[in-house]
Amino acid sequence: MDANLRNIRVQKLSHLARGNTDVDILRLDLLHPIVSGNKWFKLRYYLEEAIALDRHRIASFGGAFSNHIVATAFAAREAGLGSIGYIRGEEPRNLSPTLQDAASFGMNLVFLSRQDYMGKKIRTMNDPGTYFINEGGYGNLGAKGAATMLNTTDTHSYTHILCACGTGTMLAGVAIAALPEQKVWGISVLKNHTRINDEVQALLAMREEQRSFTVWHGYDFGGYAKHPPALLAFMKELWEKEQLPTDIVYTSKLLFAARDLIEQGHFPEGSRILLVHSGGLQGNRSLPPNTLPF
Ligand SMILES: *Cc1c(COP(=O)(O)O)cnc(C)c1O
Repeated sequence: MDANLRNIRVQKLSHLARGNTDVDILRLDLLHPIVSGNKWFKLRYYLEEAIALDRHRIASFGGAFSNHIVATAFAAREAGLGSIGYIRGEEPRNLSPTLQDAASFGMNLVFLSRQDYMGKKIRTMNDPGTYFINEGGYGNLGAKGAATMLNTTDTHSYTHILCACGTGTMLAGVAIAALPEQKVWGISVLKNHTRINDEVQALLAMREEQRSFTVWHGYDFGGYAKHPPALLAFMKELWEKEQLPTDIVYTSKLLFAARDLIEQGHFPEGSRILLVHSGGLQGNRSLPPNTLPF
């Protein structure tokens, strides 16, 4: 199945709206069932550069349920390139569904002990035929690609655009693409990741862009990929009320934060809020079967 930009649409979230504050969500997850919305956008210019440099293979890094790894495998294959995924941890007896998909897209999986992974001790680092992409797609071309997410629909009437942030590459892209009067807010899914502001600023500086953005902390639910019962209950509620599927790592925390910030009165009357559904649903396969109704 190909990634199809025409599947992307905006959904109105009527239960999240309050008074005359509207909330819409840009469903980038509809791009493809496995390939995460934002990752595909972040990868596009890295792949273009790899081809321009005559590389025949893409390499990147991630964990067993990584959206980035499976998207890299898919996008490399779409571009006619090979791929290699350096996976954190010992080789398991059974591959996760994510890694099975990555392998089915032709990715060569190499397992690294946590120590080697941290040190990125990779023999093929000097392989001239391989193009390396940072973990999570962090970097200048990633931000440039993420900026194109907002070309998939008309976003000019929104007063605020909110997205989840891990590395902050997507947030930098949204800040680049937003209109000067639009507020761009990121919801950090990492615990106390206060360096995120500098990391996003560094990406903007690489592109010689001066943009403002705000990162909100405290919506991590205990840390990266942590999903206590309260988060799962919220995800079920979103599904029942809005027919909106979310993932446990990023988009559920974005939605929770949006609801909380609305209730706390952080949006002036008449605000029009656009949330970015960045995908990631495939990662829910790390949960026991039937944990979620979608
Ligand atoms: C990777 C990812 C993010 C975070 O993107 P960054 O550019 O690293 O901040 C958000 N949502 C989903 C679904 C992702 O896979």
